[in-house]
Amino acid sequence: MIVIGLTGGIGSGKSTLLSWFKSKSIPVFESDKVANELLNTKLREEVSLHFGANLYATGSLDTQALAALVFENNNLLQTLNSIVHPAVAHAFTLFLKTNIKAKAVVKEAAILFETGAYKQCDFMILVCAPKEERIARVMRRDSVSREAVLARMNHQWSDAKKRTLADAVIENTNLEEATHQLEQLLKEQLEGL
Ligand code: ADP
Repeated sequence: MIVIGLTGGIGSGKSTLLSWFKSKSIPVFESDKVANELLNTKLREEVSLHFGANLYATGSLDTQALAALVFENNNLLQTLNSIVHPAVAHAFTLFLKTNIKAKAVVKEAAILFETGAYKQCDFMILVCAPKEERIARVMRRDSVSREAVLARMNHQWSDAKKRTLADAVIENTNLEEATHQLEQLLKEQLEGL
C-alpha cells in the first residue's frame, strides 16, 4: 500500500482534487473533517475544560469562536494542537487498518507538514495556486472577508517552505490540467509498487 499525502494552503483546491481520488474509489482520510468530528465527540470534554463549555452552547462546537481564540494566542493554539493532533493520528492508524487491502490511500490535510503528519505518508503531493486567487476562492466559498482569509493563511507555512518537503507539486489554476497531472502521478506511483 502507498500512503499519499495531499496538502496545500487554504484555497489551493486540495478538497476539490481529493474528490477526484474519491471518484476513483481510493480511500481518503480527511484530517480536518475527522478533527472536527472528534472535537464534537471524544474531545468535547477536554476542549470545554480548556476553552470553556460555552463553545458548545449551540450543541456543536463553534469553530469560528475557537479559531478566533487560538489564532490570537499562540499558547492556546499549542494547547489545542496537543489535544487534537494525537487523536487525529490515532484515527488515521485505525483508518489504515480498515483499508489494509487498498493499493493506495490518501491522507488530506491542510497542515500536513506543519504537524509532522507527513511522516505517516510515502508520497507527498502539494497543491499550489497564486495567493490572490486562493484568497478570492476562499472569500467566495466561505463568504468571509479578505482579512479573515489572511489570518488563516498566516498560520500555515508558505508554499516555498512546503515545496522543499513535497515529492510532487500540482499548480492548480486550471482544474482540468491539475486533475490530469494527478492522474499521471497516481499511475506512476501504482506502477512503482
Ligand atoms: P482547499 O480545500 O484547498 O481549501 P477547495 O478545494 O475547497 O480548497 O477550493 C477552494 C474553492 O476554489 C472551492 O470553491 C473550489 O470549487 C474552487 N476551486 C478549486 N480549484 C479551482 C480551480 N482550478 N479554478 C477555479 N476554482 C477552483
